[in-house]
Amino acid sequence: MRGYLVAGNWKMNGSNASNRALVEGIVAGVPSSSDVQLLVCPPFPYISSVAGLIEGSPVLLGAQNVSAHASGAFTGETAGSMLQDVGCEFVIVGHSERRALMGETSKTVALKFKAALDIGLKPILCVGETLEQRESGQTKTVIDEQMNAVLDEVGIDVFSDAVIAYEPVWAIGTGVTASPEQAQEVHRHIRRLLESHNAGVAERIKILYGGSVKGDNAAGLFSNPDIDGGLIGGASLKSDDFLAIAEAAASLS
Ligand code: PEP
Repeated sequence: MRGYLVAGNWKMNGSNASNRALVEGIVAGVPSSSDVQLLVCPPFPYISSVAGLIEGSPVLLGAQNVSAHASGAFTGETAGSMLQDVGCEFVIVGHSERRALMGETSKTVALKFKAALDIGLKPILCVGETLEQRESGQTKTVIDEQMNAVLDEVGIDVFSDAVIAYEPVWAIGTGVTASPEQAQEVHRHIRRLLESHNAGVAERIKILYGGSVKGDNAAGLFSNPDIDGGLIGGASLKSDDFLAIAEAAASLS
């Protein structure tokens, strides 16, 4: 039983005041099911204060990005050791916004994934195709390229400490969600790819779905055998919306 992980990617949103209201709401409403874990990923400047707000609760903490380097002259970058120092357990790598807007290649993403693992952070590796790639039948080829870049860099064994998020780019922030069948098909493909390297790791790893998940579509997605929760953008910014997704997971566990 892998259990569910519901992770909030706050992106570049929030303030001290709004974060407090959001986190207090989440902490007050954490589902009692021990099979559902909640994770919040605030912007860098707020990680420490959010760490204080979740203290004593089961809510987990993560970051949205990490440097591929351990330390040194990399102005504006943040090392994995720093994230760990301020209480992060997870870090998102390879989000499609970073791939598309910041020019991160699959090789860069693989190096960040490795840097996170090297320091003991759990990377959440995002993979996913654009609408154009889906419509031209390239979905699995794109996923394979993004996955294989990381597998080539770090090997299969360390995936035990990682999470994967399948996020079709066309579903992120658009209000268009992949159907449960579309999502399950790609999740199954990802698990089979991992299985071809190590069946145990493939069975244990959590594969999240991300892309316009809401309280009213979460159960339909999460009830599929290879979908182990969600990476949530827009709906992670209001505690009621985020908790509705967590409750959908809890209702299935
Ligand atoms: C995301 O950015 O990871 C995401 C899934 O966003 P949204 O839920 O808003 O589609």
